Amino acid sequence: MENVIIIGSGCAGYTSAIYTARAGLNPLIFTGLMPGGLLTTTTIVENYPGFENGIDGFELMMTMRKQCERFGARIRDVEVVTSVERKGSTFIVGIQDEKIEAKTIIIATGAGHRHLGIESEHLLENKGVTYCATCDGPHPMFRNQPLVVVGGGDSAIEEATFLTRFGSKVYLIHRRDKLRASKIMQDRAFANPKIEFVWDTAVEEILDVKQDKVTAVRVKNLKTGETKDLPAAGVFIAIGHIPNTQIFKGMIDMDEDGYVITKRGMMTNIDGIFSAGDCVDRVYRQAITAAGLGCAAAIDAERYLAALEMPEA
Ligand code: NAP
Repeated sequence: MENVIIIGSGCAGYTSAIYTARAGLNPLIFTGLMPGGLLTTTTIVENYPGFENGIDGFELMMTMRKQCERFGARIRDVEVVTSVERKGSTFIVGIQDEKIEAKTIIIATGAGHRHLGIESEHLLENKGVTYCATCDGPHPMFRNQPLVVVGGGDSAIEEATFLTRFGSKVYLIHRRDKLRASKIMQDRAFANPKIEFVWDTAVEEILDVKQDKVTAVRVKNLKTGETKDLPAAGVFIAIGHIPNTQIFKGMIDMDEDGYVITKRGMMTNIDGIFSAGDCVDRVYRQAITAAGLGCAAAIDAERYLAALEMPEA
């Protein structure tokens, strides 16, 4: 019987492992298919406190992992939890054919970026196509170059505004003629002379796969059918996130987009199952907030286990 099984190995998963390991709970982590999570795909992380000159995303996650292991956390790599079932007050976690029983679970499965779903997007990822302006915007390859942001929500507006610090101009491509973003953020973007709005438009292709870098974006006006190429050195796709919570549907309470709803701290609707990180948080989605939520979930799990062990009054 495991005390704690942690599902996911991003900032939330590893932080909850550090805390539960130091509390003597001997946690078991299933990393999922991408050990270290989304942050391992970014270059320099400059806003994680404690690193004056920033730190490479992959290195940050590997360091967190070693920190978990130093306190005795056990890590099972590239293994995916396929089911979680209740058994009285405990849980049965399925990993392919194996079943493991646990007293508590921390769901820290994160969220993936929603993709446009075109081939050139995939082929040019990390070669000018990115999903995080905060992480990648300051890269020298984007300095004084025209840039493209796709999306019409708060993320897209925030990213476009942020990118005007680096790019020569920013095209904001949105599929409708109205933004979804909050009014205050819209007003700020409309007042920014470096942002050019390209309305009613879809991205058809990102050029140029042959050169193995981004040189332009081929767009189509959805009302007139007209296509044109906008020059760009970078494409920042901000069309939302998809929380990795599909396997918990029907068991764990979620909002309409699949984000886990927590109550009483980081506890879910099921006593003994906690959740933290980007699968819970649709607003902040930063490495440091995910780590903070992971810490909170670990403390909640520790207190829950301590209460289970208390003799009844
Ligand atoms: P979002 O609000 O879901 O917006 C996604 C945008 O992408 C929408 O404009 C949508 O178009 C567009 N889109 C979706 N799928 C698309 C596709 N396949 N092709 C082209 N465009 C597509 O997501 P978000 O901007 O990431 O924001 C998520 C949440 O975080 C929101 O609640 C937001 O308020 C919050 N947030 C807050 C802040 C802040 O306050 N500082 C910053 C970032 C995010 P349609 O409009 O046509 O649907």
